[in-house]
This record gives sequence, C-alpha cells and structure tokens, in this order.
Amino acid sequence: MRTVSHVYHQYQCITERSLIANHSSELADLIVSEHGKVKSDAAGEVARGLEVVEYACGIAQLMKGEFTESASTGVNVHSIRQPLGVVAGITPFNFPVMVPMWMFPLAIATGNTFVLKPSEKDPSASMLLAELVAKAGVPNGVFNVVHGDRVAVDTILTHPDIAAVSFVGSTAIARHVYETAAREGKRVQALGGAKNHMVVLPDADLAEAAAAAVSAGFGSAGERCMAASVLVAVGGCGDELVERIRERVNGLRLGPGTDPTSEMGPLVTSEHRDKVASYLGIGESEGAKITIDGRDHDISGDPGGYWLGPCLIDNVTEDMKVYTDEIFGPVLSLVRVDKLDDAIGLIERNGYGNGAAIFTGDGAAAQRFETDVKAGMVGVNVAIPVPVAYYSFGGWSNSLFGDLHVYGPDGVRFYTKGKTVTSRWHNIAQHHASLNFPSSTATDRAKAQER
Ligand code: NAD
Repeated sequence: MRTVSHVYHQYQCITERSLIANHSSELADLIVSEHGKVKSDAAGEVARGLEVVEYACGIAQLMKGEFTESASTGVNVHSIRQPLGVVAGITPFNFPVMVPMWMFPLAIATGNTFVLKPSEKDPSASMLLAELVAKAGVPNGVFNVVHGDRVAVDTILTHPDIAAVSFVGSTAIARHVYETAAREGKRVQALGGAKNHMVVLPDADLAEAAAAAVSAGFGSAGERCMAASVLVAVGGCGDELVERIRERVNGLRLGPGTDPTSEMGPLVTSEHRDKVASYLGIGESEGAKITIDGRDHDISGDPGGYWLGPCLIDNVTEDMKVYTDEIFGPVLSLVRVDKLDDAIGLIERNGYGNGAAIFTGDGAAAQRFETDVKAGMVGVNVAIPVPVAYYSFGGWSNSLFGDLHVYGPDGVRFYTKGKTVTSRWHNIAQHHASLNFPSSTATDRAKAQER
C-alpha cells in the first residue's frame, strides 16, 4: 500500500529545490575546495543538478499511469508504477553534486529510500546535500550517505536489501558494478568512461568550432565525461583549427578555483596529474606531435598544485594509446580524416559511445551524422550535448552497462516497477465458470454482431 502521496513528494521536492538553490554558493565552494574546478564551473554543476529536482517536482504527472475503459465488456485496465524499495547510487569525483542529483531526487520522489556512496576524493558536498534534504522534511532514513571506497561499493553491490544500483564512474568499475549487482539480482544502470569526438567539417565556422573545442576540451581541466577529447578535422581544416585553438589557449588563465579570474583549475590529485601528463610522452613515442604543451603554461597559483595546462596532440591515429585510452585531463587529440564517413567510422570503432558532436553549416551532413553516429548523446554545433533534465542522459557501448539512462523519463522508469491491473466490477455473477483462456474477443464480437 502506498502510504506517501505524490502531493507530499512534490511538496518536498519544491522545498528541496529552494533550499539547494539558496545554498548553491556554499555547495560550489565545497566543490572548488576538494575538486579544484573554478567556482563558475562548480556553480554551473549545481544548477544542472537543480534542473533534475525541478523535473522531480512534477512527479505526480511523471508517475501517471494509463487507463483503458471497457477493454472488454465491463472490464477496465490501468497501469501503475511502484517504488523498488532501497536503491543506491555510487558516484565519481568529477561532479560531486550534479551526479548524485541525477539520481536521488527521482529515486526519492518515486517513493524509494536512497543510499549515496560519493567519491572518496570529494565527499563533503554530499553531506551538505543530505542536510538540505533533511531540512526539506524528508524523513530520517530516506536519504543516506555512506562514505568509503571499493569495500563500501562491494557491500552495496551484494547487500540483499538493496534493490537497484545506479553507478557513474570509469568503464572498468562500471563493468564490475554491472556484473556483480546483476548477478545478485539487482536492477543496474552503470555509466562508464568516454572518449568523445568532436567532428569539424571544412564548411563550419572554424573560429566558432575552435572556441567550442577549447571550452569542451579544457573546461574543468578536461575532467568531464562529456569533454571533447578527440577533435576530428575533416577535409584539410586541421591546420586552421590548430592555429585558432593555439590563439585561444595562449590567453587562458590557469589558477586556483577560488580566484574569480581563473578559467581553469588544477587536476584532482597529483597522481592523476602525473598520469595525464604521461600521455604526452606516450603520444610522442607513438609518433604523434605535441603541438601545444600544457606543461609550459603560465600558472597564477601555488606552484606545488597539480597543474597541467591545455595540451593538443596532433597527427594522432587510431592505433595509438593516446587515442584508445580515456585520458580524463586537458589533452585534446587531433585526428585528421578525408571525409565525414571516415569520422563516423572512427567513432563506431572507438568502443566508447557517450557523446559525439559535429560542427558544420551543412544540414544534410548534420542529419547523416545524427542518424549514423554510434553514440547516445549527439551535438550539432553543440560541443557538450548534455541532455536537459526532461530527457535522459546516457551513452552506448562501453559508456553504459544496462538498459535505462539516468534522470528524465528513464530515471522514473529505473526507480519504479510497472504493474497492470485488469478489473471487472459489474456482471460478475453472470459469468459462469470456464476453463478457456480469458479473451475479450469471442464474447464481445458475438455481442457486437447481435446489435
Ligand atoms: P572511478 O571509477 O575511479 O570511481 C567511481 C566510483 O567507484 C567512486 O565512488 C569510487 O569510490 C568507486 N570505486 C573506485 N574503484 C573501485 C573499485 N575497484 N571497486 C569498486 N568501486 C570502486 O571514477 P572517478 O575517477 O571517480 O571518475 C572519473 C570517471 O568517471 C571517468 O572515467 C569518467 O568518464 C567517468 N564519468 C562518467 C560519466 C558518465 O555519465 N558516463 C559521468 C561522470 C564521470
């Protein structure tokens, strides 16, 4: 029996929305202090998360089932959706507010209780989120935060009381989460890593495309799952793109996230910075050319910070590690191809299928790209095509294990079970016992013929 009404959930979502909005600057400060991204970027992350809470404010509409009157004589059919019980979310370091907010607003609004296991690298924002959710009137035990690393994750994956797991992180862990939780009989959506290609056709506005490549490649120091990490220059537009990107990158200000003039902050840890920087040497040894070397970029912050400026590696080919690995830092690989079909083929063979974008002035080419490209989220003259909250977010291939994407309509479906009710309330007494398979057609057709 559902004991909590949709109106109650809607009211809580509305209160949650205003509390989180009123504390968005505090949340952004926590992100900056632990993740390192610049404050404006952190504020943008909170705003995108809030959009999901706004979507959840319409939960009564989202949970509405279907109704068929007189499916057969005197028989009505309706469908309802019910919560799963206890569900869990395991989230990565790169969006410590937005990714949990992809999950818990809909998980709770649909009637579940939620256990969040945030990244151990930047766990504080999740505590403030929990306080705000509690202040919004969500009862104790409905939104829970568990800190830890793989031990906590494996406990969640095998816990008999947890019905479903949402995961966002790297591909290797996503696969482990999917396989383990599915084996335990849980519903799973496990979003993995990415290698997003931004394709530029020669007819595109190259100034605009270069600006977009810089924002999408180096924003948040490239630590975004929807960052552009491969730039595909089609039909000889590569040289002009490189020069335009260089001009923009030269003026980029690297500094601490707390400095409002900084455009790009440090990487999350020294180990991660070293790993990302090591790809420059790997690329060179594989025969690629370091055209922009971020190790030389001016830095306005603490020289001991985990810095790496924007890097562009040119002449990258499909067999190189810099192309096949997710680097997850401010490193853009440039691949040059002759035709649009070559770019589409490259993306298909890459193995990841999170986002893909095309920059062009040719509508027919854009249409072909959106139809043929093997990726879950596609941008046309939009470099980071993260869907708005009333669509759903998710990639293909190694970027998503499971069937349903996160948030939006898929989020509602993921956190609920469907039930279909067939009911008859009159003429019950007139029906004699029959062992035939129940069917509306024979009786109803006969009655229709009599009329
Ligand atoms: P990660 O995979 O290292 O960690 C993600 C979560 O898994 C964390 O909570 C962590 O504690 C846990 N974890 C780590 N190692 C584990 C193990 N061995 N066993 C069980 N759990 C483990 O990812 P990250 O470095 O925090 O985040 C960056 C990655 O996340 C990138 O690959 C990025 O592409 C991906 N990401 C994907 C999306 C998407 O929507 N597809 C969004 C954001 C980030």
